[in-house]
Amino acid sequence: MSSEVNIHPAVDGIKRAAPGFAGGTLTCQCATNPVTVEIKGQVAHNHVCGCTKCWKPAGALFSQVAVVGRDNVKVTANEDKLQIVDDSATIQRHACRDCGVHMYGRIENTGHAFYGLDFVHTELSKERGWAPPEFAAFVSSIIEAGAPPQEMGAIRARLNEIGLPPYDALSPALMDAISTHVAKSRGVLKNA
Ligand SMILES: [Zn+2]
Ligand SMILES: [Zn+2]
Repeated sequence: MSSEVNIHPAVDGIKRAAPGFAGGTLTCQCATNPVTVEIKGQVAHNHVCGCTKCWKPAGALFSQVAVVGRDNVKVTANEDKLQIVDDSATIQRHACRDCGVHMYGRIENTGHAFYGLDFVHTELSKERGWAPPEFAAFVSSIIEAGAPPQEMGAIRARLNEIGLPPYDALSPALMDAISTHVAKSRGVLKNA
């Protein structure tokens, strides 16, 4: 019954990260002149995300999103088709204006804990061996996109079943990293 919950097409039968994975090319969904983005090396902190801002494939409750150093992200074709979805958002999501797929999200605020990392959707690449998702973030937010509140129990159960512990913010490790960054920048924490 719970397997009818469509978390994301890439997470059923989760794959393993390939040791020494070299990276791959993300391609948008345009049939002609697709935007391509080259990712050098492996991604980190891959997860599924329930927020309303991340790009999701049709019918999925969650997006799947990972981070990679911005120096390892390079637009290799049709960059002129990219536009920023929301200039005021912390993460500037660069989307294809024709098919709507988000090709990478970038943080331009140098004071942000995750500055230097870009957000990418590895399912846009044909290469196998990307690090699989490790947890589910912002689970309650899927209600804002139309998920029925009474199904949240089944959805959280399904996430646990496939090894993606559900959180209503980021994972504890990432929330701790953000707060550590804030504490250091305010001088509260000195030698952490
Ligand atoms: Zn496109
Ligand atoms: Zn999100």
